[in-house]
Amino acid sequence: MKEYGQKIHRIELPVPFPLKTMNVYLIDQEPITLVDTGIKTDTSFQVLEDSLRRLGYGIEDVRRILITHGHLDHYGQAKRISALSGAEVFIHVEEYRRIRSIAQFRRQVASVLVQNGTPKDSVNKTIEYMKSAQQWAEPLDDVHFLNEGDEISFKNMVLRPIHCPGHSPGLLCFYLEEKGILISGDHLLKEISPNPIINPLQKGVGSRNTSLKQYLHSIRKIKDLEVSLVLPGHGEPIRDFKAALEKILHHHEQRLATVLSILSRGEKTAYDISRVLFPDTKSFEVFLGVSEVLGHLSILLEEGKISLRSRNGIDYYSIRDTRP
Ligand SMILES: [Zn+2]
Ligand SMILES: [Zn+2]
Repeated sequence: MKEYGQKIHRIELPVPFPLKTMNVYLIDQEPITLVDTGIKTDTSFQVLEDSLRRLGYGIEDVRRILITHGHLDHYGQAKRISALSGAEVFIHVEEYRRIRSIAQFRRQVASVLVQNGTPKDSVNKTIEYMKSAQQWAEPLDDVHFLNEGDEISFKNMVLRPIHCPGHSPGLLCFYLEEKGILISGDHLLKEISPNPIINPLQKGVGSRNTSLKQYLHSIRKIKDLEVSLVLPGHGEPIRDFKAALEKILHHHEQRLATVLSILSRGEKTAYDISRVLFPDTKSFEVFLGVSEVLGHLSILLEEGKISLRSRNGIDYYSIRDTRP
């Protein structure tokens, strides 16, 4: 457990994914507030309870829960905490919708994967994983919607939500201006570049996936904030804010060039490209890989550098022939 700016404590909870842990932040000022919650398992609950106790609190003292985004590691046990404490839960409306339409979301994920050339076996494994992972989260029902422009008041400070769509459509970062602290959810992470996951609930999402474009826009959107400390949704804090933003922009520029060079070897589906970039991924990671490639393909399509042909319901991309 670490403390930042005197009032914000990081509590690391275990998650059964490659990232291994996620961060809950306790804001130790009236009303006692948690940012994100971890997944709904007994272990996760126990670690949270023990960590709060060491800070002099119990679960029942939590008055407010702010959710950065609707991925299950971030909201999974919100309902359980809220039921025990009476804490009010705040979330962006788009993330609430995503949580409430998870079955539809899975069907759309399956159809996007098929449309992009993913083998049936791999599609099935992804969907099975998504179904079983749902045990780690309880859907939210009683929530308050939160958006940019709102103020989250504490006794002696105000936290401002900043809407940063990309990794997820309704992702909110929370900015504590007076201390230059940005609680970033999965918008910024220290070691890895966050995946702008496709939003299959959006129409025509296959080839017109705007998540990466939105994500890059959301990166540029926050670049002029005065930030001396980023508190991310996973891993260690980030001290060099500007360098972290540059690193992400650079990563995607390089990735666009790599995707073009893979296509220069001939026509490919998004799945084919994802296998070149991420050869070892399995199950749900296959979806994350295809999702990320679709983000780059949609930017290259928009720039007129590649073209798309559909045959038998599957999308194939190739370098655009610009010869007259
Ligand atoms: Zn996430
Ligand atoms: Zn996460």
